[in-house]
Amino acid sequence: MMIDTVLEYNEQFVKDRKYEEFRTTKFPNKKMVIVTCMDTRLIELLPQSMNLRNGDAKIIKNAGGVISHPFGSAMRSILVALYELKASEVCVIMHHGCGMNNINSVETIKKMQEGGVSKQTFDTLEFAGIDIEKWLAGFENVEDSVRNSVNMIKKHPLLPIGTPVHGLVIDPETGKLDVVVKDDVPV
Ligand SMILES: [Zn+2]
Repeated sequence: MMIDTVLEYNEQFVKDRKYEEFRTTKFPNKKMVIVTCMDTRLIELLPQSMNLRNGDAKIIKNAGGVISHPFGSAMRSILVALYELKASEVCVIMHHGCGMNNINSVETIKKMQEGGVSKQTFDTLEFAGIDIEKWLAGFENVEDSVRNSVNMIKKHPLLPIGTPVHGLVIDPETGKLDVVVKDDVPV
């Protein structure tokens, strides 16, 4: 398994003190909190295309970079970054060609069933009022989805007053950022 390779590398990494160039604090130097997608193409491209080094920003990732619930863990992370970690500006950055764009949740459910999740399990979840199809659903239009997430953050009752919340779309090939919403609230 890959974990063995990772652990072997890690031992050497620490022994060689390679961590020294990454030393920083838990407070983001550029006072930014970024919500973005877990897409593998963005691992290094996104921070480098924004000139972000280790320690510069809080980066929250999930499938799509979507804030799907006002009291979910992504929103909680934003609030913790703003209140406890000295961040003061929020950026939602989704991307073209996202796996969550037009994801077919019926197909995903079918894969779960093929993987061994029983019909009874789905019945139980349905009985408990959990709509798996809706829960797994992605988005149709990336710009609209950016606007929705920005609005959810911006209108959140616990957001510090005056926090700028921007929305952008990144090209996962070139790193080019297109602005969807630029919040001009004075900081
Ligand atoms: Zn994505």
